[in-house]
Amino acid sequence: MSQIVVFAEAAQLLTLDGGPITARGGAAQGELGLIERGSAVVRDGFFSWVGPHAALDLRALAAEPGASLEVHECRGKVVMPGLIDSHTHLVWGGDRKDELEARLGGADYEQIFAAGGGILSSVRQTRARDEDQLHAEAIRRALRMRRCGTTTFEIKSGYGLDLETELRQLRVARRLRDADGLRVVATCLAAHALPAERRGPGGRESYLHELCASILPAIAAERLAEFADVFCDRGAFSEHESRTILRRAQELGFRLRVHANELGPTGGARLAAELRAASADHLLHIDDDDRRALRGAGVVATLLPGTSLVLKKPYADGRALIDAGVPVAVATDCNPGSCAIESLALVLALACHGNRLSPAEAICAVTHNAAASLGLAHRVGRLAPGLAADLLLLATDDYRDLVYHAGSPLIAAVFQGGERVA
Ligand SMILES: [Zn+2]
Repeated sequence: MSQIVVFAEAAQLLTLDGGPITARGGAAQGELGLIERGSAVVRDGFFSWVGPHAALDLRALAAEPGASLEVHECRGKVVMPGLIDSHTHLVWGGDRKDELEARLGGADYEQIFAAGGGILSSVRQTRARDEDQLHAEAIRRALRMRRCGTTTFEIKSGYGLDLETELRQLRVARRLRDADGLRVVATCLAAHALPAERRGPGGRESYLHELCASILPAIAAERLAEFADVFCDRGAFSEHESRTILRRAQELGFRLRVHANELGPTGGARLAAELRAASADHLLHIDDDDRRALRGAGVVATLLPGTSLVLKKPYADGRALIDAGVPVAVATDCNPGSCAIESLALVLALACHGNRLSPAEAICAVTHNAAASLGLAHRVGRLAPGLAADLLLLATDDYRDLVYHAGSPLIAAVFQGGERVA
């Protein structure tokens, strides 16, 4: 029996459809494919029809033999794609609330990091937890994120920094996908930082060797991650080291993402372009040449304004990126230290205030462009026939309220595959 669900007569149906299926920069990023008084029909979890309500024959659907029909009246509401969080570090142990408080009192992230806090504190807490404990903490976060509208999650490892714990983190990500039914794309970020026990003589070389010769191959063999990522920045890995790691990852079949140019102009953006990475993330310190390189290589620029807010750093210039034709995605960077904000809807508003995106561009940044950066544009991120019916009902008739009334409870319902999940 086929299951038909209709979302009927939305004041605004944001389809994001009609433009290119690749990630969109320039003027195309601001085109939402908005249909006023629009409806969408879902069959067995996938959109089968999207268009103006006046063109929908509800009686014919009701009369279909062997089909069950459920109709959601969406008058006065916005219907839009579920949010896609294309950069999170969702699986970690413990918390760093003390560190947050210290930073609010004036301490600097790089000072905290140098003193063994920061990432290394999360590494200690993550290594100390078994898979069940890590899973219990991660699922709580994921469900809160879903209540805030997220229906697809990219999840990075990177708080293990040894083979065993990196595998454990990625197995938790897989469990969130397979047992909990979340849409998850996993990324190996074993090149997040140099682990504390490798900070003596020869340690750096030996960790790089272990990464390339043992950690990445083991993760590839278990197919635990689709992407590999490197923190190419001051205090983490140099451009040269990052190139070595990313090339090795590419040989093993991973697609690439890069933490680039967050703390300084460290060459990460250019490296992402050179290696044709799917995404270069952060990008606080880039210039016209970097933007040209990203555009030329088809790299999605993923901006993380929540991290700028929490760390009191400048915001990446999203306006300049879009105007240069670079497609921009926006994500939470949800992680235990520099930004534990879980609401991508809130971060969407920050992208307007901080990165200078328009509300329409920011919506494309957390739907279609985020999907494209994860290689999922054919599956999620738009309301279009054939795509999974992941969508949000907003308790407003104007999508711009997501920015205007940032932080208000506007997300009235979250659907995944046509089923209400929050
Ligand atoms: Zn990150």
